[in-house]
Amino acid sequence: MTANWHAILWPNKSTNSHYYLTSFFDEFLVNNCLICNSVEVNQVFRKAEFTYFRCHSCGMLLVDLQLAPAEVFSHYSKAYYEAEASRTDGRRGYPSYRNARDTLEASFVEKLAVVRRHVPSGRLLDAGAAYGLFLSTAASHFEGIGIDVSEYAASVARDEFGMNVQARDIERTGLPDDHFDAIVLWDIIEHLIHPIDALREMHRVLKPGGWIFISTDDAAHWLPRLLGSQWWALAAPLHLCHFSKRGMTVAFQRARLELKEFAKDPRRYSVSDIIKHFGVSYQSSFLANIGTSMEQNALGRWVFHVTRPEQFIAIGRKPGELIEGPVDHSRP
Ligand SMILES: [Zn+2]
Repeated sequence: MTANWHAILWPNKSTNSHYYLTSFFDEFLVNNCLICNSVEVNQVFRKAEFTYFRCHSCGMLLVDLQLAPAEVFSHYSKAYYEAEASRTDGRRGYPSYRNARDTLEASFVEKLAVVRRHVPSGRLLDAGAAYGLFLSTAASHFEGIGIDVSEYAASVARDEFGMNVQARDIERTGLPDDHFDAIVLWDIIEHLIHPIDALREMHRVLKPGGWIFISTDDAAHWLPRLLGSQWWALAAPLHLCHFSKRGMTVAFQRARLELKEFAKDPRRYSVSDIIKHFGVSYQSSFLANIGTSMEQNALGRWVFHVTRPEQFIAIGRKPGELIEGPVDHSRP
């Protein structure tokens, strides 16, 4: 990364001149916000071997990533989706994506209703489709295809769930221009190394007037700010860009997408799902084992509905008119 000359020449204009002067000598530190390009960024904490920065202009919480993309992508193996089955230390990701199928699908039914309020049917791209469970939920309304960075997940989607999911890079999908009526990114954008490039690619493949739906956590909400380095969503190098609503607004502008609204993100969890997630997030085998043992009893299998205050769905569209069906040339 390049040094921030403005801050070096006029350090008093920054809120933390010492940081910027230090950063001149350390090319790896974050100088500018990845999303809004502001120089008002401070180191806020370190967790494991990763340093986190907060942008005071847009509220983004960013990881100073010093890993090559291939190393980041290598984490999306079977162990990420099926952490319970992994015998390795430092398990991260889903306790078991397969075993959480019922609650994931129940959550996807609610997400599908959000999508269909804007786009009742048509061609749909699920970017970050994992095992294709949303595609399967949406199949009676949409002609859907999925992409995922994980070869493992894409193969499970095809072979086990019969869904059309291809292992592709979200920044370079190879999909046609102006093709989709709707694109969904469910809990994906926080994983991306270059989220603006990914959104520009989504803009390219959306039809003019097509809709995009992005669910993520709001890192500028009071709850993550209160929890600081103990926030359960911190999972570098899996989660790299924790968005804020302001950051999402800027990201949409930079990708030439029109942001229409921030919607709530209702989800369903079982009690055992929640305990197991905390077990994986906090690397606690004690909690993970309790969660797993509770799968066998009625309390553990009890499913509840929750709209977490720190989550949102950003809904927007590509400018232009959606062409609905064949054009009637008989009209003057
Ligand atoms: Zn920013």
